[in-house]
Amino acid sequence: MEQLPEDWERGVVIVAHPDDIEYGAAAAVARWTRQGKDIRYVLASSGEAGIEGLAPAEAGPLREAEERAGATLVGVTEVEFLGYPDGRIEENLALRRDLAAAIRRHRPEMVVLFNFGDVWARGYANSADHRAVGRAGLDAVSDAGNEWIHPEIADIPAWSPRWAAVYGVADGSHAVDVTDTVEVAVGSLIAHHRYLEALSSDPVEDQARAVLEMTTGPKEGFAADRAVSFELYYFRG
Ligand SMILES: [Zn+2]
Repeated sequence: MEQLPEDWERGVVIVAHPDDIEYGAAAAVARWTRQGKDIRYVLASSGEAGIEGLAPAEAGPLREAEERAGATLVGVTEVEFLGYPDGRIEENLALRRDLAAAIRRHRPEMVVLFNFGDVWARGYANSADHRAVGRAGLDAVSDAGNEWIHPEIADIPAWSPRWAAVYGVADGSHAVDVTDTVEVAVGSLIAHHRYLEALSSDPVEDQARAVLEMTTGPKEGFAADRAVSFELYYFRG
């Protein structure tokens, strides 16, 4: 497993829901912002269908606020919500266009995406929203650089990122050493406390530590105590 390229300045993380980034990628984001990189978040939905017993109209704003709080802890201040319906996101041209528009607005060299495979690991199904946003996101990376595919966004200059890196994959091609930033990433997941409280009766901090223990463990063939792995895709340069 190789070191993920870090010779870039601006990155955008595109996911379906609040908390998707905080399940592991936030540790890498914290490392990158400490290096002086400019990282922004784009979330397709506000996660409004994610809290049992709490109506979407209340859950949406609350989860946006939790996402912004978690983002701030890892050095990210620009968080965009596209307003797609939580749990009902479809992989289609409209989603590709909106994600391509976001990539053009933010002009990242690196686009980070969440696992869009059918499973997390053998026996554990991935969710429909993750599949849709991840797959449309990868397509949007190429779409963003093409001036003809989406005429509706022709007013935003085309932009081609250099890479897309997908996290949450069982074994990726590349990794990032997050030994020094796991702790701050635990804090960024704890920021989703109302969401986590509804998920389990275990204390929120214990839940957050257990998740980060799982997603930022040492990786085979990569010399770091704690690491996040990615599957890297090359686009230009
Ligand atoms: Zn999710």
